[in-house]
Amino acid sequence: MLPSHDIGPAVTFDRVTKRYGGGTIAVDGVSVEVVGGSFVALVGSSGSGKSTLLKMINRLIEPSEGTVRIGDAPVGDAAPHALRRRIGYVFQNIGLFPHMTVAENIAIGLRLAGEKANGTRVADLLDLVDLPREFATRMPDALSGGQRQRVGVARALATAPGLLLLDEPFGALDPVTRDQLGKAIRALHDRLELTTIMVTHDMAEALILADRILVMDRGQIVADATPRELLAGQGGAIADALVAVPREQARRMRDLEA
Ligand code: ADP
Ligand code: MG
Repeated sequence: MLPSHDIGPAVTFDRVTKRYGGGTIAVDGVSVEVVGGSFVALVGSSGSGKSTLLKMINRLIEPSEGTVRIGDAPVGDAAPHALRRRIGYVFQNIGLFPHMTVAENIAIGLRLAGEKANGTRVADLLDLVDLPREFATRMPDALSGGQRQRVGVARALATAPGLLLLDEPFGALDPVTRDQLGKAIRALHDRLELTTIMVTHDMAEALILADRILVMDRGQIVADATPRELLAGQGGAIADALVAVPREQARRMRDLEA
């Protein structure tokens, strides 16, 4: 079995700013706490700073100012490899190594963490993401996009992290696969008691999957609310505009059915 761990850790941003060379302020003085064990969606238009905010958690990007903490510990105090062992990270077009089998791709997460990867562990991870165990010996190009993303999730969870970061994980997938993978990730979140932070530009997906939604605009969090609150119009103008899109689509579909 996979090693168990306690409920996922809290993640706290304390007045975090990121300035890139050239003067772009990608993240602008963000203070927010993600409660341990919660599933939070980070929504906003392209360029609003979502990926930058996420990557400051696993130190792929260092803040210009402010502190990110996991539990009570500033991430800047941890060695990046030790930190990333405790954080699963999945991004769009997951970037499996094309010349390695599925098993080797999954095991890479373990090997980087200095652990032995055995066949049982890989089989457990394939079970976890609902892929057949026979896939272990396949090459990535023999998988569909959705199956590849599932391998990416298995790799991200190989070290049994408490925290899962997802950056547009369903970006390139068709709607049916996207829906299935969303449900699968939510189920994994619940079963493993992870803390999950998912970046998406799709408000419908955020409303359906998340416990709480943070809306970003020009580097700032302009709404912080539950799906229910956002649907009730309590998120402010920018959130309302994002919620209006799926709401209008749902209305038009109901009209067609009537
Ligand atoms: P999002 O994920 O919401 O699309 P990003 O965090 O990728 O937004 O980008 C936020 C802003 O920072 C954008 O204006 C983007 O152009 C800029 N940016 C992102 N990465 C870099 C970089 N490495 N160098 C300079 N500017 C960047
Ligand atoms: Mg992004």
